[in-house]
Amino acid sequence: MTFEQLNISASLIKGLNELNIIKPTEIQVKAIPVLIKYDGDFVGQAQTGTGKTAAFGLPILENIEAENPKIQAIVLSPTRELAQQIAKQLFKFTKYASKKIFVEAVYGGEKIEVQISALQRPTQILVATPGRLIDLLNRKVIDLSRVTTVVLDEADEMLSMGFKPDMDEILSHTVNRKNLWLFSATISDGIQQIIDTYMQADVPCVKVEKKDVVNTAIAHQYLVADIPQKLNVLLKFLKTQQEARGIIFCKTKAAAQNLAQQLIAKNIAADALHGDLGQRDREKVMRAFKNEKLKILIATDVAARGIDVHDLAYIVQYQLPEQIEYYTHRSGRTGRAGKKGISLTFILPHEGAKITKLENELHINFEKVDF
Ligand code: AMP
Repeated sequence: MTFEQLNISASLIKGLNELNIIKPTEIQVKAIPVLIKYDGDFVGQAQTGTGKTAAFGLPILENIEAENPKIQAIVLSPTRELAQQIAKQLFKFTKYASKKIFVEAVYGGEKIEVQISALQRPTQILVATPGRLIDLLNRKVIDLSRVTTVVLDEADEMLSMGFKPDMDEILSHTVNRKNLWLFSATISDGIQQIIDTYMQADVPCVKVEKKDVVNTAIAHQYLVADIPQKLNVLLKFLKTQQEARGIIFCKTKAAAQNLAQQLIAKNIAADALHGDLGQRDREKVMRAFKNEKLKILIATDVAARGIDVHDLAYIVQYQLPEQIEYYTHRSGRTGRAGKKGISLTFILPHEGAKITKLENELHINFEKVDF
């Protein structure tokens, strides 16, 4: 099955391919043909990582009236992170779209005034956390009268976070709704109640299994930094990680040692693990890392090979490895049970093609970040 066979336009397919999204996942194969018709409700039982954002996002994008500047679809998400991620994905899908479609994300924790002024511009798709959307509705600064499609993403999470009353209220404001699409990893009693209250009796339901998760729990990120900037940028990143443990990979022993000294000089609980250490020193470093006296291990690939720590919040590739398979070994040490781990890669300004190569060979997507 291809996206073309699922009736996705060539211009959107071009955007997908650029993100390494080539072959539709199971939820996409099952949901897109139903959703693209845009004429009713839908329940998708699928967890994060199965490609569900594209499963509902592509049918929405195909059906948006670009000449109408009003909000036509809303996607409700339990967290700001997910809301941002969904909006970003939809924006990327439309990179080559023949019609200009505007996606906006609104969520708590950020100045509402900024979001209100953003909403003055044409916005056809709104991704929102329920609480913030209610706030905007109460201030009467948002018009949902032209919304035809509402997506409840990770509906089970939204229920467990206590958003049921907000969801009810938002649904009551979408008077011209034709499509209510619910995605949830589980169909609990609470979810069933939403289905019974709001959806057509013969609502189509599709389910995909856990094993269909596309990417594991690793967020692949990269940033571009010149050699003189690297240490500063690294320090900023480490600050975001607070007490979490991670490994920083360097290509050579000298680089690992040098970086360890630089971090220790900044009072960071770090140490180097490299091939020159005797067995005893090596064990000492590892013990300190395992019992969390050390937060950060700075390692070469060879030195890290034998160590069995996987349960890490992040991995940094301070220098890219020579061999591509080392990238997999390195990043595979993060992505803790149920939590997303970060694999952050530093590249020099001329090394962009290396990221593309990793994306193509390993079938992963990288996100560019700044610190
Ligand atoms: P989601 O379940 O929507 O959070 O998607 C998880 C990840 O899978 C995202 O990084 C998507 O970009 C990626 N993805 C979505 N659809 C596909 C696909 N058909 N092939 C490969 N990756 C995909």
